Amino acid sequence: MSPPASTKVDLLIVGAGPAGLALANWFRGTNIKVLIVDKKPGPTPRGQAEGLKSTTNEIFDSYGIGPQVTAESWRLEEIACWGTRKDGGEGIVREQVIPDRVAELGKPRETMLQQSRVEHHMLHNILSHDNIEIRYSTTPISVDVDTSCVHEADTFPVSVSLEKVTTNTNTTNGDTTNGTNCHATNGHHINGQNGHQPNEHDAPSDMISAKYIVGCDGARSWLRKQLDVSLEGDLTDSVFGVVDMVPKSNFPDIRRVCYLRAASGTILLVPRSNKEVRMYIPVESGTALPDPKDLTFDRVMDAARKIIAPYTMEVGSVSWWSAYRVRQRVGNHFSRLNERAFLVGDAVHTHSPKAGQGMNTSIQDAYNLGWKLRLTLKGKVRSSGARQDLLRTYESERRPVALDLIAFDKGFLKLFAAPSSQFDTEILQALKFTTGLSIRYPPSCAVQLPKGIEQLGPSLLKADLVPGKRLPDFRVVYQADGVPTWMHKRLSATGQFRVMIFAGDISDSTASKRLHDVGKYLGEGKSLKHVVMPQSEQEPLVEVLVVHCAERDLVDLLALPEVYRPWSDESGYDFWRVFGDVESVHDGHGKAYERLEIDRQVGCTVVVRPDGYIGAVLEVDDVEGVERYFEGMNVS
Ligand code: FAD
Repeated sequence: MSPPASTKVDLLIVGAGPAGLALANWFRGTNIKVLIVDKKPGPTPRGQAEGLKSTTNEIFDSYGIGPQVTAESWRLEEIACWGTRKDGGEGIVREQVIPDRVAELGKPRETMLQQSRVEHHMLHNILSHDNIEIRYSTTPISVDVDTSCVHEADTFPVSVSLEKVTTNTNTTNGDTTNGTNCHATNGHHINGQNGHQPNEHDAPSDMISAKYIVGCDGARSWLRKQLDVSLEGDLTDSVFGVVDMVPKSNFPDIRRVCYLRAASGTILLVPRSNKEVRMYIPVESGTALPDPKDLTFDRVMDAARKIIAPYTMEVGSVSWWSAYRVRQRVGNHFSRLNERAFLVGDAVHTHSPKAGQGMNTSIQDAYNLGWKLRLTLKGKVRSSGARQDLLRTYESERRPVALDLIAFDKGFLKLFAAPSSQFDTEILQALKFTTGLSIRYPPSCAVQLPKGIEQLGPSLLKADLVPGKRLPDFRVVYQADGVPTWMHKRLSATGQFRVMIFAGDISDSTASKRLHDVGKYLGEGKSLKHVVMPQSEQEPLVEVLVVHCAERDLVDLLALPEVYRPWSDESGYDFWRVFGDVESVHDGHGKAYERLEIDRQVGCTVVVRPDGYIGAVLEVDDVEGVERYFEGMNVS
């Protein structure tokens, strides 16, 4: 008997949690064939995670689901710190209330939305795209990678056999929870196969051949074991209960984020929608650590009541609770087999959920890998070596982030266990860390440092505008109509790089001439024209954007070189590439130049990668620097 024919896909994703869905979103509307398999019977009914950091919200903006996610999310505005009484009396007192804000962000640092709703929006964003298929109740049972052909672009070296899962699988994070789902709320059921209608030509096959495989299969990752990747690190000595409930309490700060330190431990309270509050409660048992499996809801609540006394806390409705012992571990590899197999999210790192980083980091990992796979699978990277160099940056960029996160997490847990006198300063530092603003990816083909960066003009050496960091978000207005926008909202996930020219005050003739010369070189010169100018039916690989700080009335958009306002026969001019850093009619002044510390006379040019990270920072008219960047990436 001949073996069953295999279905060919470009990318096989194992796991449709936050990481898997975030990854799949990169491939919407492309001709890249993606299959996602998940052993659970349908979308996640509940999920543990909550809490979206600003960077994650920017990712949702780039996927076009920002407004829906924001509309459902709960904003966190204030943090109250409570501690034991200084006069030696019993009970706790409010020490201070601080804004839950990282000033330079200019927008909320964190919002709350339940994991299942986050997944819902990501899932529904891919369902209408025929190139992406989801199969629930399906799990891989074997994987084989033919290493002899991994260097050739159009080969399918990954062979996977799939099996239908008929038993009821437990989808909780097995490493950390033993909890009970009291309600499955907000679930959206899609009957196992996401509306994809199989026909006689694409009947589901159990054998899959893929170009790439990515394990987004959570803390107990099956693919991680197959790839022989080990996790380094171990269990911590912290056991927590986590409870989502409507509290009936006379504690006055129950609707604020609240760090509540008492002699018997520190509770973290986080307000949720529907009158609910999430509570992280440390549970101790004399000198010995309790086994999370032995913890009961009553015991967790007893620990909470002891800390919050003399205030009272009765239990209203409980939508979910769990108990866990934190593991802090990072995989020794994030990619294997010549960058044909990858691990993303909880599959390669786990840590305490208290800093609210798990879902965020998983989505951000996926966002980092997705554009690299997209460019590769679209054939935009010219050589095998360049493809591998680019895909390797997934591990070189994201593994240090996971390690930093574990280091941070250790400190964060200690902060809870034994708060120092600098508790409040440390909390503020922690807020900053969790935004991801301090992440800086190392130099690579995708993050290029010009030689002697220290000799460039002072405007190119600012703390936040450097290669390897995320482009800080800023608000500007469209030159064409004065409508304000945050820049990351404008940077949709199309897989394009952006050459962003901070042209300065272009009402000045020198700055204006400089911008014209740069525009002519980019749009009409031989070396970059093919990547920056729209081709028929294809988005150019690079979009050229201009952010000036002149008075808008003094700028004539249509007099600018074509690359800044290209014309297409189908839709006329592209009016959405030139922005002013000026006062808007309703939303005030975004002060982008000030925020980015760019000299208004000098300006600069920034190459922004498809994931919103800075690839290069150059002198404003350094067009050769732009060329060098794309030559270094070997893309066209
Ligand atoms: P998962 O969410 O675990 O998804 C993995 C997916 O893979 C699942 O759908 C699973 O069914 C599927 N799968 C697994 N094995 C297989 C297989 N063999 N075959 C097919 N499919 C498979 N994070 C935050 O950011 N904020 C928070 O507030 C927060 N709170 C938390 C509270 C608790 C109590 C816990 C335990 C975690 C919390 N986290 C939080 C962490 C967060 O839940 C995880 O980091 C996040 O869900 C990881 O996403 P993921 O997609 O990598 O993995």
